[in-house]
Amino acid sequence: MNKDNVFDVAIIGGGPAGTLAAGRAGEFCEKVILLEKNARLGRKLLITGNGRCNLTQAEFNIREMVEKFGENGKFLFSSLSAFGVKETIEFFNNRDCKTKTERGDRVFPESDKAQDVLDVLVKYMAENGVTVSCDSGVIDLEKQDNRITRLITNKGEIIAKNYILCTGGKSFPGTGSAGDGFKWVEKLGHHVTELTPSLTALNIKEDWVKSLQGLSLKNIEISVFQNDEKKENIFGEMLFTHFGISGPIILSISKNVGKLMKKGKVTLSLDLKPALDFTKLDRRLQRDFLKYQNKIYKNSLDELLPQNLIPIIIKLSGIDPDKQVNSITKEERNRLTNLLKSMNMTVISLQGFEHSLITSGGVAIKEIDPKTMRSKLIENLFFAGEIIDVDGPTGGYNLQVCWSTGYVAGENAAKSLIIADYG
Ligand SMILES: Cc1cc2nc3c(=O)[nH]c(=O)nc-3n(C[C@H](O)[C@H](O)[C@H](O)COP(=O)(O)OP(=O)(O)OC[C@H]3O[C@@H](n4cnc5c(N)ncnc54)[C@H](O)[C@@H]3O)c2cc1C
Repeated sequence: MNKDNVFDVAIIGGGPAGTLAAGRAGEFCEKVILLEKNARLGRKLLITGNGRCNLTQAEFNIREMVEKFGENGKFLFSSLSAFGVKETIEFFNNRDCKTKTERGDRVFPESDKAQDVLDVLVKYMAENGVTVSCDSGVIDLEKQDNRITRLITNKGEIIAKNYILCTGGKSFPGTGSAGDGFKWVEKLGHHVTELTPSLTALNIKEDWVKSLQGLSLKNIEISVFQNDEKKENIFGEMLFTHFGISGPIILSISKNVGKLMKKGKVTLSLDLKPALDFTKLDRRLQRDFLKYQNKIYKNSLDELLPQNLIPIIIKLSGIDPDKQVNSITKEERNRLTNLLKSMNMTVISLQGFEHSLITSGGVAIKEIDPKTMRSKLIENLFFAGEIIDVDGPTGGYNLQVCWSTGYVAGENAAKSLIIADYG
């Protein structure tokens, strides 16, 4: 047999999970190969955090961290204990990629360059003798009994003792993560839970929303409603777009909105002044209206609202824009106060996988050993990264999943061979 295509560990997918797993496996095994279908590694990694790469979240308490991932978070407990946030930050800091922590405990490279994060991973693999094969798309994998026997790639076959699947989710498919891995794992007998776009923008029905395209609002609150029942509220920053709304807090609620939409209509209420309750806001308006009593209504809101928003508020309030401020009635003022506290928007749909930061759903966690990332069905298969059914909010959580599960999968895929050799 041609020994050039025979390896101890073969890793499929050169994203953050695959590169870290390959480097770690290389620390224990001589023959490790990483297969990436693109001409370059880490295409998605390079666009994370707008090219700055929010590589983790400075949450050092594992329990708190795990909670952020919802129901499936418990699955991460062991891998975060083995290689958690502290270890991740040390890993990059010790390899010429100093990190800094910004607002919201988001950790970035000091250089603000995702490329520096990728460079560390490439160097880590080189130091540990990993063979990196780009332009190597895996087309299929074959199994016999409960073992994978070989991979079929566009360049020929690859045979390994252990395999790590790190092909990511289905989001931003242009980066290479087109969901290839999901087809294979189902063929191998694994279950893939429902795949939905997550951390994604929302398409909104109301035309006024689209007319605000480009406007970013800070310190606002969004409440999510279904059948007049408030399901969630979130405070922070949002952005108006040509199709609806986006920005940090919108991405964060998108998973929940997606779930609710399966049950019926979802509306959102935007509170432009969450720090002021109705009474306080009304008093503030009274003060402003007294100050500008000789102006007309459309010229009286400059101190209260961003310029682009004023014409929309004027229109939606139903108050004559040319009305003298001192003749605005209490009823009209109340209407304006209510509007500022609650601008209603109807969600049409979520933006699809093309625009979602991550994929919710993946290989069922009950079929993976959380301590080793080994498949419970196929004895020489391991998983790491977004292909697994765990997803977190924005803020560096999702890359931390890649580092933790990649490290554990790489180590165990390699160590189990050493144990087998000496066993
Ligand atoms: C725009 C954007 C910004 C983001 N910003 C952040 C952020 O700042 N912080 C954060 O924590 N998360 C962020 N994320 C999420 C994060 O990028 C992902 O969670 C992460 O990249 C998943 O890593 P992965 O290694 O599991 O998969 P991927 O990064 O998707 O990598 C999978 C790799 O497998 C390769 N592959 C697929 N199929 C095959 C095949 N058949 N043969 C060979 N290779 C194959 C792909 O080409 C790809 O390179 C962002 C996502 C997007 C889209």
